[in-house]
Amino acid sequence: MRLFEAIIDANHRAVAGDASAGLHPAEFADALPIVALTCVDPRLNAFFPNALALPAEEFIWLRNAGNIITSTLSSTMRSLALACAVKGGREIAIIGHTDCQVAKTTTTVLLDKLKALGVERSALPENVNDFFGTFGSERQNVIKACALARNSPLIGPKIPVHGLLLDLETGKLEWVVNGYETLQASVPPTLPKMDFAALGTTGSFKDFVMGEMKFPETKIGEAAISAKDWLSKEAGKIEAKMDLPKVAPVAESVASVASQVAAVAEKNWPKPPLKVPPSPLPPIKRKNPLPPPIRPRADLRRD
Ligand SMILES: [Zn+2]
Repeated sequence: MRLFEAIIDANHRAVAGDASAGLHPAEFADALPIVALTCVDPRLNAFFPNALALPAEEFIWLRNAGNIITSTLSSTMRSLALACAVKGGREIAIIGHTDCQVAKTTTTVLLDKLKALGVERSALPENVNDFFGTFGSERQNVIKACALARNSPLIGPKIPVHGLLLDLETGKLEWVVNGYETLQASVPPTLPKMDFAALGTTGSFKDFVMGEMKFPETKIGEAAISAKDWLSKEAGKIEAKMDLPKVAPVAESVASVASQVAAVAEKNWPKPPLKVPPSPLPPIKRKNPLPPPIRPRADLRRD
């Protein structure tokens, strides 16, 4: 059982009333710590990291209003990347929640509230929704954020990106995006070899990545289509700049193109070696007793 399979299992059993539900973090040492992005809603304070059955030291917690990712290179994306590269995060979870006020606030109401705080309409960009990344569906917002993070050149292909939705009424977690599946889908068996150093174009590619690679603003539901178009376009640009022989049609699958971009980013920004090398699970029978399992709080449920 992989880490998030165990987390979801423990969470669902705890919510169902199983007092023995929990997990032993030591058994998942090669998948910890995790990096979580959640909303700023203070109601979440009581839920994390207990709802995930993780100890606090294995839970790197990033928050922004609405757990929104606006682009593959956004400030939040940079924090996620640094949390993995510098703090050793092994898996990413973008965790939305029910009854999110960001989803419930219409554009008109948002503008009124900003005006009440002294922020005039003229001071804001024309498309306020695109600018703030506001959304109408908590679930779609999580899916979009996962797609952007998965396709970000800042996140290497070794890091699973999961999407979860927390029910504020029950504490139950729904696994919206299975990061293990998207991880496999984004790594085809053979990647085209791109040796930028040999081609003498490393510098220009880095400039290109940092300066030009922006994800287009999209509306909910259009992310997948736009991502495909964008990636195809960017792949074309890369080929044009690199003057590479065409190894495959430009408009191949999103996963294939995204993985090529990710592979290039991985090569240009090598990550530090993992602190804890992956190792087989400890034997079931051993002399030293396991530490007590970490359990989701028993008071998750409201009666
Ligand atoms: Zn929220």
